[in-house]
Amino acid sequence: MRLSGITPSGHTQLGNHLGAVARWAADGGAEDLYFIADLHAMTTTHNPAGLRGRTSEMLAILIAAGIAPERVFVQSDLARELGALTWVLECTCSYGEAARMIQFKEKAAGQSGVRLSLLTYPVLMAADILLQGAAEVPVGEDQSQHVELARVLARRFNSTYGEVFTVPRAVLPLTGARVRDLADPTRKMSKSNRDSAGVVFVLDEPDLIRRKIRRAVTDAHSAPAYEPDERPGVSNLLEILGACTGTTPQEAAAAHTSYGALKEAVANAVIETLRPIRERTLALLADPAELERVRKAGGTRAAERGEHRLSSALRLIGAG
Ligand code: ATP
Ligand code: MG
Repeated sequence: MRLSGITPSGHTQLGNHLGAVARWAADGGAEDLYFIADLHAMTTTHNPAGLRGRTSEMLAILIAAGIAPERVFVQSDLARELGALTWVLECTCSYGEAARMIQFKEKAAGQSGVRLSLLTYPVLMAADILLQGAAEVPVGEDQSQHVELARVLARRFNSTYGEVFTVPRAVLPLTGARVRDLADPTRKMSKSNRDSAGVVFVLDEPDLIRRKIRRAVTDAHSAPAYEPDERPGVSNLLEILGACTGTTPQEAAAAHTSYGALKEAVANAVIETLRPIRERTLALLADPAELERVRKAGGTRAAERGEHRLSSALRLIGAG
């Protein structure tokens, strides 16, 4: 079983959809779980109301994109279970192991008032994984050190106190297109980019999507060609078009002779790809009672799935 999380650190963007969520919906295993990692979005300065809103929105988007509701849950709905398991795991983890995490060093560097949770969040991530008994955790390079820590802590707990946890391993994620920022194609599109001019959000209105794509940075050549290293702007548009229409970027390049025509085609394809997701998301958000029911059911199922591991771990470590 695989467990994947997405942090509501911003609004869901086109790269999240084409690179991850659409693949989860189409190719995810029937046992796989997806969660919205809202507790992980509190390790640096955050806005509580904004976080709550983005969490509901993200839940609605995942379901609207076609992920089965019973495979989705919100992390903070398991705050009690995860808080308890994080404590148990912190008692099996050394300070040095947490402090040597590269992400922590990078994010803490030069900051004052670093939250303690920034140091301990990999242990919460280990709790996310170990509570659900996930065998495989699809993560990018930047998170693989954290999965390694979860492996170490699972093995250590099992050998010191008794066999409770499945030892997880990092696996390559199901990935689709890599989407770059439209205004600065040298960097990837991200939901937490401070400047969102080059970021298409899944819930953007069609007119806004078209404007953002028309303004996308390209280059001084006269016709489109797929050359990701030399011509990242136009290659990004071709990749987006390919991902939205089920063709290759090379085929998309051959079909368009001007940048103007290519941009219109990309805008149309993105608008039509996102339209049903946007409509279903807005319908779900307009029915908060139904969204709440789905959310509760997902949280209850996830908590029940992990309950025996948490109670065994507490008992074996000498508590409860
Ligand atoms: P943040 O800025 O907070 O890092 P993000 O937009 O990079 O946000 P993540 O939460 O880091 O999103 O990643 C969620 C999923 O979306 C991951 O599977 C990641 O690989 C995928 N993803 C994120 N950005 C892109 C992108 N530009 N193209 C393709 N896939 C992406
Ligand atoms: Mg990211």
